[in-house]
Amino acid sequence: MSIKEYFVSIFKGFHSLLKGMAVTGKELVTPKVTEQYPENRAELHIPERFRAALEFIYDDNGYHKCIACGSCERNCPNQTISITKRMVELPDGKKKQKLDKYTYDLGSCTFCGLCVQVCPTNAIRFSNDFEQAVFTREKLVKQLNYLPEKDDAPAPAPAAKPAAPAAVKPAAAPVEKPVADESKQETKENKE
Ligand code: SF4
Ligand code: SF4
Repeated sequence: MSIKEYFVSIFKGFHSLLKGMAVTGKELVTPKVTEQYPENRAELHIPERFRAALEFIYDDNGYHKCIACGSCERNCPNQTISITKRMVELPDGKKKQKLDKYTYDLGSCTFCGLCVQVCPTNAIRFSNDFEQAVFTREKLVKQLNYLPEKDDAPAPAPAAKPAAPAAVKPAAAPVEKPVADESKQETKENKE
């Protein structure tokens, strides 16, 4: 190696060191974006529509709106929901189907939301409680009707249907212009 090459290599090394230090210095003054979880749990913002886990909607009196129709269970693509029902006798002697146990396996849910969409009484929803980690898969299987079932629950009102889209007025069909009879036109020109 000549003396010139020796000094060029020293210069290149020094230049590369300065470039690296510039990147480090820039990151030193850039605002930090690291989430200090779980210390920042109180300030964390989880979007309202985030689908963390399925849950029952209970009202203030401890009633839910599930009528055990099984629609969510049938529409679930991977058998995540399992429903057992029982028959109860009403005061007027009629028999009525009631929910007994509503089981949901969070471990196999794909969070597609089909169950919520097809529910005719809006009885279920997704919570945005994202902290669902457990040590065994068995703990991911949850009974959603965790309050004791009441036989005198009022019949839930059916879910409001989404408004029908406004009818689109069909476009008017194009009006065909009458085509002039070319043979007659030719004859007229010949006479002239
Ligand atoms: S979100 Fe989809 S996969 Fe999960 S329980 Fe509902 S229908 Fe089944
Ligand atoms: S949650 Fe809704 S769809 Fe599922 S069984 Fe109950 S009422 Fe039917």
